[in-house]
Amino acid sequence: MGSQEVSNVDWQGKHVTVAGLGVSGIPAARALHERGALVTVVNDGDDERARAQAAELEALGITVRLGDGDTLPTSTELVVTAPGWKPGKPLFQAAAEADVPVWGDVELAWRLRGPDAAPWLAVTGTNGKTTTVRMLASILEAAGLRTAAVGNIGVSLLDAVLGDETYDVLAVELSSYQLHWAPSLRAHSGAVLNLAPDHLDWHGSMAGYAADKGRIYEGNSVACVYNAQDEATEDLVREADVEEGCRAIGFTLGTPGPSQLGVVDGILVDRAFVANRQKQAQELAEVADVDPPAPHNIANALAAAALARAFGVQPAAVRDGLRAFRPDPHRIEHVADIAGVTYIDDSKATNTHAAEASLASYEPIVWIAGGLAKGATFDELVTGAAKRLRGVVLMGADRALIREALARHAPEVPVVDLDRTDTGAMSAAVLEAARLARPGDTVLLAPACASMDMFVNYNKRGEAFADAVRALAAESA
Ligand code: ADP
Repeated sequence: MGSQEVSNVDWQGKHVTVAGLGVSGIPAARALHERGALVTVVNDGDDERARAQAAELEALGITVRLGDGDTLPTSTELVVTAPGWKPGKPLFQAAAEADVPVWGDVELAWRLRGPDAAPWLAVTGTNGKTTTVRMLASILEAAGLRTAAVGNIGVSLLDAVLGDETYDVLAVELSSYQLHWAPSLRAHSGAVLNLAPDHLDWHGSMAGYAADKGRIYEGNSVACVYNAQDEATEDLVREADVEEGCRAIGFTLGTPGPSQLGVVDGILVDRAFVANRQKQAQELAEVADVDPPAPHNIANALAAAALARAFGVQPAAVRDGLRAFRPDPHRIEHVADIAGVTYIDDSKATNTHAAEASLASYEPIVWIAGGLAKGATFDELVTGAAKRLRGVVLMGADRALIREALARHAPEVPVVDLDRTDTGAMSAAVLEAARLARPGDTVLLAPACASMDMFVNYNKRGEAFADAVRALAAESA
């Protein structure tokens, strides 16, 4: 099998092209250079930062070509790419024509890991990856295992695999891009949390996106964890080629069937990793142990629990790990209560599927939304949320798309269109939202859009919201 074969690659004198300077490219170039490979880094950009980074690599003896990420250097035997580079890029066409394999950062880490390397518990999905991986790491820690949350978050996979730290098991977050470029990855167990249209411009189609997500199940040895309430994830398990004895384990917010984890009377229960799954269910934790106890987050907790249980973790550690877990900022984060109104920052809801989850968690809501739609439509989102909406405040480049959907499906809901795309619009949005809200309501920033039209990233957008809310609190005090 590929993974065995290439762990033993003799890198000495091998011509490797690293595509993209950046968080994954620089450590990849260094690691390969240290192993004796002849590394050339190619990069589209040629700005000051790239030049400084290039100078550091060149000082080590690595070749760097700035301003041309599309020409494949002659004699290239392998391309190692940053995960975000689009598959249609001329560099990859040239590689395909020359029969040169292309690996992403995950594939490289997988191939470079040592013979006694820790197994990977891997998580993907359109939304909830970071949260689930952090919950999983918290559970594994509570079980006394040496672990880290790695991948798309925190420690890079390459650092985790090549560093001095020894791990018993890794909790790995994988994006669809990373999976696309990781053909020989074989996780101990994998989970697809949910599947909704996103990044279709990159993957070309929903089928392509789903197929890349589904790669997480390939070669799993113990469990393929799927969302029993999202059929598309179960289809991916069916299509996967797994090791003999590997089980399909579902999670559901309802009562679990055999080989599932689910919820009964406010208790998270396991009917999969028990001696008699036809008759027996094991209590794991209470819904109230999960922060926040919103439905989608309970689903994340169940997925994390399923992976941990697949690894043999005891029920008490699942409970302790979930209790110890605190969500990252800007993910349904409570900012303040002012005059009986609760202010929640879910700036990380950068697509409609994520916004749908947070809109389902509160009622009545004054919803702050808008930004870059990335090709999304809002009819379904607005239809589902309509009856919960006290009012809506819109801003950002694609706000008209949301306004039109509101006019079609929720014409009675008051809408304030700020008609602004400047960063300062957030303060105005909070003031308008406060005006619309009544005691008992929730003002929810869940933009359903990317932030880059107005902010550097979703963190900055969330901080702007929190600052505006705090200013309002100070005024009202
Ligand atoms: P990711 O790493 O996949 O982007 P995060 O854990 O950072 O996911 O959560 C991103 C956003 O997605 C959250 O702010 C929340 O609005 C939403 N979300 C989290 N979990 C889920 C889920 N299971 N289903 C739908 N939306 C979710």
